[in-house]
Amino acid sequence: MKTLLPTSTAGSLPKPSWLAEPETLWSPWKLENDELITGKQDALRLSVQDQHKAGIDIISDGEQTRQHFVTTFIEHLSGVDFENRKTVKIRNRYEASVPTVVGAVTREQAVFVEDAKFLRQQTKQPIKWALPGPMTMIDTLYDSHYKSREKLAWEFAKILNQEAKELEAAGVDIIQFDEPAFNVFFDEVNDWGVAALERAMEGLKCQTAVHICYGYGIKANTDWKKTLGSEWRQYEEIFPKLQTSNIDLISLECQNSHVPMDLIELIRGKKVMVGAIDVATHTIETPEEVAATLRKALKFVDADKLYPSTNCGMAPLPHQVARGKMNALAAGADILRKELLR
Ligand SMILES: [Zn+2]
Repeated sequence: MKTLLPTSTAGSLPKPSWLAEPETLWSPWKLENDELITGKQDALRLSVQDQHKAGIDIISDGEQTRQHFVTTFIEHLSGVDFENRKTVKIRNRYEASVPTVVGAVTREQAVFVEDAKFLRQQTKQPIKWALPGPMTMIDTLYDSHYKSREKLAWEFAKILNQEAKELEAAGVDIIQFDEPAFNVFFDEVNDWGVAALERAMEGLKCQTAVHICYGYGIKANTDWKKTLGSEWRQYEEIFPKLQTSNIDLISLECQNSHVPMDLIELIRGKKVMVGAIDVATHTIETPEEVAATLRKALKFVDADKLYPSTNCGMAPLPHQVARGKMNALAAGADILRKELLR
């Protein structure tokens, strides 16, 4: 990537109100059949247009073709029964009714590859595609088949690798795995979580990223954040392992969070997507605020490895707010870019 401080969003962006209920996670589609297919493509094009207009450098699909960042992927696999539901605790935080793994999990067909090809046609800029990470996938299911979190994660890693290779062939420049579960299950991350992620990335020549955040700005997450105290040191538990992994980029939550910035030193050498936009508030950051966050991060990450980004996805935000935040991100990165090139 040539641009210094290339900007991108962590993932999801708001969907048009004719496609899904605004400001709602997991909203059902408002269209059906062929109309839904073209509706999703129209939404993806609008999302790309918004990113171009804001001056974002690495373009994503805004997750316009999926209902949810984990479930939509799992829906396309066999071995999971969506009728047979059990209540589990997601990330040790909130209860949810989830599908059951009833047999060997397999990927019979590509999940997002056609969508990625469509995105590739919409822009000449580098593109990034997000997939759920293996540990986050197992955390949203009840497993009555493998009866081992590690084993199931490993099976998902193999499936993700098949999908990732096809995404790469479709022209995706960065494949990002979303692993919010990495912020919760530290022992498992160190025992097998990072290894499973590396299995999912095996043989890829494109760039790979892992996104580890404190979640969307929904109540269950903001309540949880209140229990974490004044210094959030979760990253400290897993950074040493990530530093020695094959992963190219690490995407973090830094804006308005209580993560001590100096923890980034623990992953020195990696490219870091620094979250300089808070997704849990409708207040739009000023470009100066964005620049200030990035400036702080620069003490711990080399300039050529700093990727300005958002803390997390912006799907639950109003369109105007998400657009304003993307503008601020691009303008803030620009301030710093000028300082660095002076
Ligand atoms: Zn996130």
